Amino acid sequence: MKNIIPQEVTLHEVVLRDGIQNEKNIIPTEEKIKLINKLIDCGLRRIEVSSFVNPRFVPQMADSEDLWNKIERKKDVLYSALILGEKSLDRAIHCHVPHVGIFLSASETHSLKNSNRSVSEAKKEAIVLIEKAKSAGMGVRAGVMNAFGCAYEGKIPIEKVTNLISNLVKAEPDEICLADTSGMANPRQMREVLKQVREVVGDRTVSLHLHNTRGLGLANVWEALQHGVRIFDTSMGGLGGCPFIPGARGNIATEDTVHMLHEMGIKVGIDLNCLINESLCFEKFIGKEFPAMVSHL
Ligand code: MG
Repeated sequence: MKNIIPQEVTLHEVVLRDGIQNEKNIIPTEEKIKLINKLIDCGLRRIEVSSFVNPRFVPQMADSEDLWNKIERKKDVLYSALILGEKSLDRAIHCHVPHVGIFLSASETHSLKNSNRSVSEAKKEAIVLIEKAKSAGMGVRAGVMNAFGCAYEGKIPIEKVTNLISNLVKAEPDEICLADTSGMANPRQMREVLKQVREVVGDRTVSLHLHNTRGLGLANVWEALQHGVRIFDTSMGGLGGCPFIPGARGNIATEDTVHMLHEMGIKVGIDLNCLINESLCFEKFIGKEFPAMVSHL
């Protein structure tokens, strides 16, 4: 096996979406704007700003339109939103969102709970949404949730994941994202899944959305680095978790990931001290200790 460690890695910051979606206290739009600007000051260049979801299900995202209308859009930053269905995409188009994530779940149970659709229905819809987003001029990442296992169903066969992806790539997304929504991936499985996914995506960019539910987040990053992954979703403080996954824990923490990559000599373009300061400030603001490690040394 050829072992190629990259010189540079890009982080896709999800604290404003995955990170805070389960926080009960609603964060004012102005605070979200301040946080976005601080994350950019720390060096982050891909920011997931919000999801366009029904606020009845995720009240924290009720200000999506307002937020998108108020943020300053810097040229060298990729601002992204998560889309859930056609109405959601229409809202994003209306806000001139430049980049969207369109995900479906590889698990029937999670798919029904998360989107009220079977996997097969969700697949058909995702293809239509990708095509519509592309023709609206948006950048698109298409993703598969629970690609490494499901809290409800246990193991998810790799063929199920590669089959979904081979359908998604026909709609020409710019990037394929594999999400370990239930935090069940291990490094050996990571290698196998990436190998098989590579066979169906060709040279298309593959990114990872990892949760640290069982403490294997960074071990999985290390394995994925050796198999061509250069983009990782991370959340400041390690906040996050799907509202429709029992026991869901946070995403891999941005500061812990930056620390590991820096120590290995991999360029990330992020000022770690600046990020730790922001994480601790936000922790105070939220009022509970975040799971990230290096900000609590
Ligand atoms: Mg997530």
